[in-house]
Amino acid sequence: MAGSAVWHPNTQMSEWESFDRIVRGDGMWLVDSRGRRMLDGVASMWCNVWGHSNQELVQAIARQAQRLQHSPLFNLTNGPAETLAGMLVKASPGMYRAFFSDNGSSAIEIALKMAIKYWQNTGENKKTIIASLKNGYHGDTLGAMSAGYMPEFFDSFRSHTFRARQFDAPSRRGTRRGSGRSQDKDAYDTDRCLDIMEKALAGNDRIAALVMESGAQVAGGVHIFPDGFQRSVQRICRRHGVLLILDEVATGLGRLGSMIQYMSQQSPPDIVVYGKMLTGGYLTMAATIATKRIHDAFLGRYDDSVHLFHGHTYTGNPIAASAAVQNIRMYKKYRLIRHVERASRIFAEQTDMIRSMDAVVDIRTKGLLMGIEVSEDRMPSNAGSANKVFFEAGMRNGIYLRTLGNVVMLVPPLAISEEELGMVVRRAVKTIRDVTNS
Ligand SMILES: *Cc1c(COP(=O)(O)O)cnc(C)c1O
Repeated sequence: MAGSAVWHPNTQMSEWESFDRIVRGDGMWLVDSRGRRMLDGVASMWCNVWGHSNQELVQAIARQAQRLQHSPLFNLTNGPAETLAGMLVKASPGMYRAFFSDNGSSAIEIALKMAIKYWQNTGENKKTIIASLKNGYHGDTLGAMSAGYMPEFFDSFRSHTFRARQFDAPSRRGTRRGSGRSQDKDAYDTDRCLDIMEKALAGNDRIAALVMESGAQVAGGVHIFPDGFQRSVQRICRRHGVLLILDEVATGLGRLGSMIQYMSQQSPPDIVVYGKMLTGGYLTMAATIATKRIHDAFLGRYDDSVHLFHGHTYTGNPIAASAAVQNIRMYKKYRLIRHVERASRIFAEQTDMIRSMDAVVDIRTKGLLMGIEVSEDRMPSNAGSANKVFFEAGMRNGIYLRTLGNVVMLVPPLAISEEELGMVVRRAVKTIRDVTNS
């Protein structure tokens, strides 16, 4: 509303006279102050799992809020944080200890600090360089921007970021209009990317860690890794003494169709990061989880200063942890991953139809993630940012969208019914047609 004191994220404020005010959430639907209902097509920034106002989650939060609201992990512990750490470590093969923070960017910073100090603690002081993949995204804080450096977003801050050694991620050869399955290995320049990476890692003994998104690059425009790529990167890192940090903030916990994405990619990392969907999308919490080898390198006498110099005020907040514990329990109780597998077939069945649309350049999908790339030439001129144009057309069609430029993202809550998922696709297609007049 005009006169609101809120400064909105990643938003050109002059472009918006007012913002639609959401007053209530009801399952897969958002309800605004005028009583309009729209489908949550992006799971409220990719984090909602069960839909809004799920009573099991709300009750878990309310029960904990009655008893203990916040208690820090400094010198103390609390039940929900301990239970959650145990569950996460058990669900993540090879992992040993979970370090909690409040958001994905912080959790990435923690992973980077763990990696750098791991090598110091083991006497390899020269291993300080962070490697990553071009077009990867790891968050908006300085360290996360450095690792996931994208010039089009972060250029203004270049002088304050550190230089990561960035490698190409595989891209599809030939025509951009996709042919065949999006993960079809032969369609990519995977071998070239792996070759360059292997030579660089073999020839540089100063690289501490390689950080990459697990399974797919999401914020970079929904690019799904071809089969076998991530497993090969893991092997290369292992061969050359480089730690592997996998960012599952967006892709873990079911989004791409498996609970732990690195398991389906057969690429056990040294450190894994979870975020967005950890609390079912209800409260803010992230986790950085490390193997025993990493953790034990931080053990010593206090005066040795080998412990991890990192802590946040709200680390391990019991209300957020209670939400996360309840969320993870419900994955099993309701066989959520099986539901995602079934539901994602609806996405897969629609790809040919969407790809055949005139204005669509490419479509990429895996699990309950879909990116539909709309031709720049088909965007209305002088209408403002692509995101705003799609958002407004989406609102008229009863669906909440937040695009990445001209890539329309469909990222519904994981527990969405097959019927509602069909509605998401139909409303998104209608929105693309409205915007591009096709
Ligand atoms: C969203 C995201 C982050 C950052 O998480 P925030 O909670 O927004 O700080 C990091 N990595 C990936 C892959 C993400 O999608």
